[in-house]
Amino acid sequence: MSFSTLGLSTPILDAIAELGYSKPTDIQKNAIPAILSGKDVVAAAQTGTGKTASFVLPILEQFNQDRTLRGKRIRALILTPTRELAVQVEASIVQYSKNLDISSMAMYGGTDIDEQKQRLIWGVDIIVATPGRLLDMAHQRALHFDELEVLVLDEADRMLDMGFIEDINKIIERLPPHRQNLLFSATISDEVRNLARRTINRPVEITIGKNSASKPKIEQWLVTVDKDRKSALLSHLIVEQEWQQALIFIETKHGAAKLVSQLEKRGIAAESLHGGRTQQVREQILSEFKSGKIKFLVSTGIAARGIDIGELTRVVNYDLPDQVDDYIHRIGRTGRAGAEGEAVSFVAKDNFRNLCAIESRLGHVIERKEFADFPVRKTVPVSILNYVPKNKRT
Ligand code: AMP
Repeated sequence: MSFSTLGLSTPILDAIAELGYSKPTDIQKNAIPAILSGKDVVAAAQTGTGKTASFVLPILEQFNQDRTLRGKRIRALILTPTRELAVQVEASIVQYSKNLDISSMAMYGGTDIDEQKQRLIWGVDIIVATPGRLLDMAHQRALHFDELEVLVLDEADRMLDMGFIEDINKIIERLPPHRQNLLFSATISDEVRNLARRTINRPVEITIGKNSASKPKIEQWLVTVDKDRKSALLSHLIVEQEWQQALIFIETKHGAAKLVSQLEKRGIAAESLHGGRTQQVREQILSEFKSGKIKFLVSTGIAARGIDIGELTRVVNYDLPDQVDDYIHRIGRTGRAGAEGEAVSFVAKDNFRNLCAIESRLGHVIERKEFADFPVRKTVPVSILNYVPKNKRT
């Protein structure tokens, strides 16, 4: 089967031929005709199956038939769990739409909001966004959904794992009822099914590949620990659990240097990454971390922000972040593309409020593990899941 039998027109066929795609993948064969016929779709498909093109190509085809766009309006919204995925999906849209007059933009937190607002003033056909930033924009009336035609929930299971359900619900409430809904997920768990049931009308269901049961799993767990035992506990875990790699988040630059020397005293080689280092040094450290030359990298949140560290097996919140979004973003760095990921948090009594905020967002408490050699003097109570921090936006 070739792409030309799927109902795509020449400018799109030319663009994908240029990318060297000779024939459609299974998900593309199934999803493209269904989406072009206007149906809702729920598809179990992982990264690597060609899922992005399976929803982007038919969206482009439909939009190319009918060009209307007003300022501050969008026609398609693609929600993704992480900024990295948003950037990646938007880059694919740019490639697939190179022969069309269709605009797209990736929108995620941590970047200049005014620049994104400015682009929205003219209207953008397709937005690829993480849920939090999109809601901010909607609250600020920087964009309106009254002309939205298509909603895509990409990697829905990961979005739910990362506690985005409330944000997704708030977004969906704002969308016009007559729209096309497409949901892609590595696995269709009960939670995903629930979301699909509430969001999607009589969908075409597609399951692709034997791997669809192995979801990219982020195992989150925490250990309560007294502040003065944190570095000993970290060394213990690295040795006892035979960790091969970890990105360790810490609050301050000074703390990072101190922890590196504490680890080294115990025979564990580590490096630190913080804003005080030049861009060139940071790039060098990161590339050595990616290649595995550096196994344990202690980083301040700021230093790691905006840098694509790619696929990670483990992140450690040596210091729990103050902001729930930072926690979500950090765990989003693990468990990519079917790989197992682990997010470990050290929680001291002072972190109790933060922990409540994080677990409230996730909608569940995080599994606690205990280590006999590290009994705590200051117990951390179990969270109140409906905790609302004072500064939380409404
Ligand atoms: P995805 O599952 O969307 O992350 O895509 C995985 C990779 O497959 C990407 O690098 C795409 O560029 C590539 N790809 C998607 N569709 C095709 C195709 N029909 N033929 C060859 N490569 C493809």
